Amino acid sequence: MSIAEGIAKAAQNVVNMEANTMQIFSRNPRGSGFRSYSKKETDCFQKIRKENNFGPLLAHAPYTMNLASPKESVYEFACMVIREDIVRMDSLFIENIVLHPGSHTGIGAGAGIENIIAGLNQAVTGKESITILLETMSGKGTEIGRSFEELKAIRDGVIHPEKIGVCLDTCHVFSAGYDIVNDLDGVLEEFDRVLGLDLLRAVHLNDSMMPFASHKDRHAVIGQGQIGWEALLRVIEHPALKELPFYLETPQDDQGHKQEIRKMREALGV
Ligand code: FE
Ligand code: FE
Ligand code: ZN
Repeated sequence: MSIAEGIAKAAQNVVNMEANTMQIFSRNPRGSGFRSYSKKETDCFQKIRKENNFGPLLAHAPYTMNLASPKESVYEFACMVIREDIVRMDSLFIENIVLHPGSHTGIGAGAGIENIIAGLNQAVTGKESITILLETMSGKGTEIGRSFEELKAIRDGVIHPEKIGVCLDTCHVFSAGYDIVNDLDGVLEEFDRVLGLDLLRAVHLNDSMMPFASHKDRHAVIGQGQIGWEALLRVIEHPALKELPFYLETPQDDQGHKQEIRKMREALGV
């Protein structure tokens, strides 16, 4: 079977990298366009995924989408994108789709959260198999999702909370001010108290170029940032996290990611 085409090729690339799960963008991350997949391509994708026992797959919604926006055109676009991409990713049997909750751009977190809730309600039917994950954010500017409480408020407000989970980004929580370096247990206890650890479905594994509580979002290669190698290995091995799928979003090409994964496997003996 030819694997020349997009999504199947990406899956084969994952196998070549000695990984067993992947994150894809649900459409152009910095625009609005998407390619339709041919039947041949999706069949090939599903075959590779099955034969290699991939763990849960993750689709990432575009960065251009802002469900918290008070600006009508921006908000309507975000509503359309999330509604369409839930359907499109669900039809590929992708287990989770993650989105950045949004930025309120001045109307306040409460009003922004109301917009996000309404945006999710018009997109989530409750009948889909896919789970929608809210990402923990660094809190730059007016970004919502800087605290576990904000994610909890979104989930509590929607009609179908059972369809909403959380993706923890190690770079983002660190820059948001959750001390996963010195007190990982404490951070996870807080997550459990506020949201419940059963809602945690995925981890974005990234080091951070920016310091603790800086509210700046710049990913670094594992071990080359302010979180550091040891602390990130403790994240992977933590009993509350170790069964979860981990996704690297580090600034590397495929060859670099392959080495990064290998180095972590060697250190952990897995
Ligand atoms: Fe993200
Ligand atoms: Fe992330
Ligand atoms: Zn980030």
